[in-house]
Amino acid sequence: GTMPLTESVAIVTGASSGIGAATATALAAEGATVVLAARRVDKLEALADRIETDGGDALVVQTDVTDEDDIDSLVQTVTDEYERIDILVNNAGVMLLEPLERADRSNFRQMVEVNLIGLMNLTHAVVPIMREQGEGHVVNVSSVAGRMTNAFSSGYNATKFGVNGFTDAVRKEVSADGVRTTIIEPGAVDTELPTHIPDDQVLEQFSEMDLPTLEADDIARAITYATTQPQHVDINEMLIRPTGQT
Ligand code: NDP
Repeated sequence: GTMPLTESVAIVTGASSGIGAATATALAAEGATVVLAARRVDKLEALADRIETDGGDALVVQTDVTDEDDIDSLVQTVTDEYERIDILVNNAGVMLLEPLERADRSNFRQMVEVNLIGLMNLTHAVVPIMREQGEGHVVNVSSVAGRMTNAFSSGYNATKFGVNGFTDAVRKEVSADGVRTTIIEPGAVDTELPTHIPDDQVLEQFSEMDLPTLEADDIARAITYATTQPQHVDINEMLIRPTGQT
C-alpha cells in the first residue's frame, strides 16, 4: 500500500500554474501541508484558498528561485512554521526556445538560473534538514528534454540535462541517509509553458504541431505515486509521455 502524507510538509516551486499547481493540489489531497512558492503571489493565494476550502493546509511564500535570499527565507519560513520539510518539488521552470543564432543571451541565463541554479540552490538549502530528519524526498521536474535533444532547444536541453546529472549525483550522496530523489520527465503537457517562447517562428511551429498532450494532473499523479511509496522504495526516475508522442 501507499503511505499517507498526513504528517508531511511539502514545498512546491512554480505552484502558481500548470504542473506545480496540480501537484500542490494532489499532495494536499493526500494530507500534506503544502508550501506554495512562485513569484505571482495572487495566483498562489487563490490556490491556497481552494486547497483550504477542500480541507487542506497551505502556506504561501512568494519566491523568485533565482534570488538566493528568497531561497533562504523560504526555507527559514517553513522550518520556523513547521520544524520539518519532508518533500521538496523543484518544479519552477521556463522554456525559452530559440534558434541558436537568434537566441538572446539573457534568455540562456534566465533558463539556467530558474531551471538549474534555482533547483540546485534550493536542494542545497533543504537537504541538510532532510538528512537531520533521517528522511526526506527531493522531486526534480526535468523533462523528456533532459534525455533527448531537439533543434531550437539547445539552452533548454542544457538546463534539463543538467537537472538529470545534478539529481543523480546528489542521490549518491544522500540516499544512505534516507533521503530519496526522483527525476520527473514529462513529455508535452498542456500548460502556460510554451506561451513564453520568445521566437515567433518557433512559437508558430510549436502551436501548429498539434501534438497529443498530457494534463498537469497526469504529472501530479506520477509525483504523488513517487512520494507516497514506503520509505524503503526510491523511485529514481519517471519518464511520462502522452500516448502517441514519440
Ligand atoms: P507553467 O508555465 O504553467 O509553470 C511554470 C511555473 O514556474 C510557474 O508557476 C511560474 O511561476 C514558475 N516560475 C517561473 N520562473 C520562476 C522564478 N524565477 N521563480 C519562481 N518560480 C518561477 O509551466 P509547466 O507547469 O509546464 O512547467 C513546470 C515544469 O515542468 C517546468 O520545469 C517545465 O520545464 C517542466 N516541463 C513541462 C513540460 C510541458 O510540456 N509543459 C514538459 C516537460 C517538463 P511565476 O511565474 O508565478 O513565478
